[in-house]
Amino acid sequence: MARVRLVAGNWKMHGSRASIAALLDALVKANPRSCAVCAPFPYLAQVAERLRGSAIAWGAQNVSEHAQGAYTGEVSAAMLAEFGCRYVIVGHSERRQLYGETDAQAAAKFAAVRKIGMTPILCVGETLAERDAGKTEAVVARQLDAVDFEKAVLAYEPVWAIGTGRNATPEQAQAVHAFLRKRVPAQTPILYGGSVKPQNAQPIFAMPDVDGGLIGGASLVAKDFLDIVKAATT
Ligand code: PEP
Repeated sequence: MARVRLVAGNWKMHGSRASIAALLDALVKANPRSCAVCAPFPYLAQVAERLRGSAIAWGAQNVSEHAQGAYTGEVSAAMLAEFGCRYVIVGHSERRQLYGETDAQAAAKFAAVRKIGMTPILCVGETLAERDAGKTEAVVARQLDAVDFEKAVLAYEPVWAIGTGRNATPEQAQAVHAFLRKRVPAQTPILYGGSVKPQNAQPIFAMPDVDGGLIGGASLVAKDFLDIVKAATT
C-alpha cells in the first residue's frame, strides 16, 4: 500500500480573524486533498467551522502534556479533540529552542495526543553546528527514540533550514529520511520542512522517502501553499 502524502501548513503566531478568513476562503475554493493547516489556538474554532465539509484537515501547533489541572495558559489534548482537531505538531524546533522543550516533554505531549486519538506530527532536526559536527543522525535518532512512536506523522526539519530561506537539497533530505524510515512503522508519512517554496518543492517531494512537507512561511500565502500541495500530490 502506498504511503499517505501530506502537506501541513504551520501558521505559527501569524494571522488575524480577517486574514485567516481570506486564506481559508482561497483554500476551500481549491479544496485540495492531502493537506492540513495548523493554526494558533484562538483561531481553531474559526478554522474548524470554515473547513467543515471540505477535504482540508486542521491541527494545532502545540498541546499540554497534562490531561487537566492548574496549568495556567496551557491547552489539553481533550480540548483540541472536542473541536475536531486531527493533527498536533509536537516538538517543533521553535518549541525546543525558544521554550526549552525537552525530548521527555515532547514524548509526553506525543503520548497525550495519541491517547485521545489525534495524530501527532513529531518534528526532529539538527542545528547547523550539529550537522557540521557530523551528528545529524545521532540527533534525529535521539529525538525520535525518546518517543513511543506509532500512528503518527514524522517531520524532518533541519533547524538551519527553518525560516532561513536555505532549504536542504533533495539529496540531503532524502539521506535523513531514509535513515528515519528504518526506525518507524512502514506506513509512516515522513515530511520535509524547512524553507519549502513553490520553486523548490517538486524535486524535494520527488525523493523516494519524502512523503510531503511541513510548511511555515509559504503556508500563509494561499497560492504558494496550494502550489506546494500540488507539487506533493501530482
Ligand atoms: C516550520 O515552521 O515548520 C517551517 C518549516 O518553516 P518555514 O517553511 O518557514 O521554513
